[in-house]
Amino acid sequence: MQDLIERAARDVAATRRAVALTGAGISIESGIPPFRGPGGLWEKIDPMEVAHIDAFRRDPQKVWDLLIRGMQSVLAQAQPNLAHRGLAALEDMGHLQAVITQNVDGLHQQAGSRDVIEFHGSFAWQRCMVCERRCRSAELDLAVIPPRCDCGGILRPDCVFFGEMIPPAHLVRSQQLAAGCQVMLVVGTSATVQPAAMLPLIARDAGALVIEINPEPTPLTGSVSDYLIPGPAGQVVAAIRDRVGELKETS
Ligand code: NAD
Ligand code: ZN
Repeated sequence: MQDLIERAARDVAATRRAVALTGAGISIESGIPPFRGPGGLWEKIDPMEVAHIDAFRRDPQKVWDLLIRGMQSVLAQAQPNLAHRGLAALEDMGHLQAVITQNVDGLHQQAGSRDVIEFHGSFAWQRCMVCERRCRSAELDLAVIPPRCDCGGILRPDCVFFGEMIPPAHLVRSQQLAAGCQVMLVVGTSATVQPAAMLPLIARDAGALVIEINPEPTPLTGSVSDYLIPGPAGQVVAAIRDRVGELKETS
């Protein structure tokens, strides 16, 4: 793995136009379970039952009870890990342009990343289903589920449920970044949720190097990505960040 870390550090150090695409795997070391894979939420509940907008419309109380309330309390305790911090450092060092994240946990911003596209929205905010007013999740009173807005409308997280569109501005900017980057770091995503999973293809087709960091191979491995660094995000991203720092000192 050391050879691959060296290779990735050299690839990142050689560009000012790297972009990271991150998924649930980058936050596992922060104690947030992924959706798929061992320990994933989907082993216990059916995604279409709870994370689909139709399910929420049908029975908001059930979705709040089965998914949202638990997620909110896990997210409230979570802290950024070495991988979030490593990407923030690579931005500071002038190599990483932006992070496109599928996560709703806000950990990239907490780690200090400035340019973060929250492709699937965020759990930090709630939105009223009736008047669209937004409020901070931290300020919610969860004594009664589902929580309601002052207007009486039901509140929902300001995220993208299955069956909903990606906010067009996020989609367009992400596609532009993918088409314009020289290196894409694909960290901790199973690359199965569309349209996020298309971004590495856009990058590859535009001539970028696509580097995966994931303990497991994904559908991108061996076809879309140039190489996979098979390890946990925290350890691998931190090692790349350290090595990029050394390369800068000696250049
Ligand atoms: P996923 O759950 O489908 O896949 C997680 C991936 O992480 C897997 O490929 C797994 O091999 C990999 N992984 C496991 N341990 C890792 C580690 N230590 N370091 C790096 N990678 C590791 O995740 P996804 O592709 O992001 O898709 C799931 C959807 O669920 C996303 O749209 C996301 O919005 C949402 N989600 C978000 C959170 C969060 O905000 N933290 C958590 C769960 C799900
Ligand atoms: Zn309202």
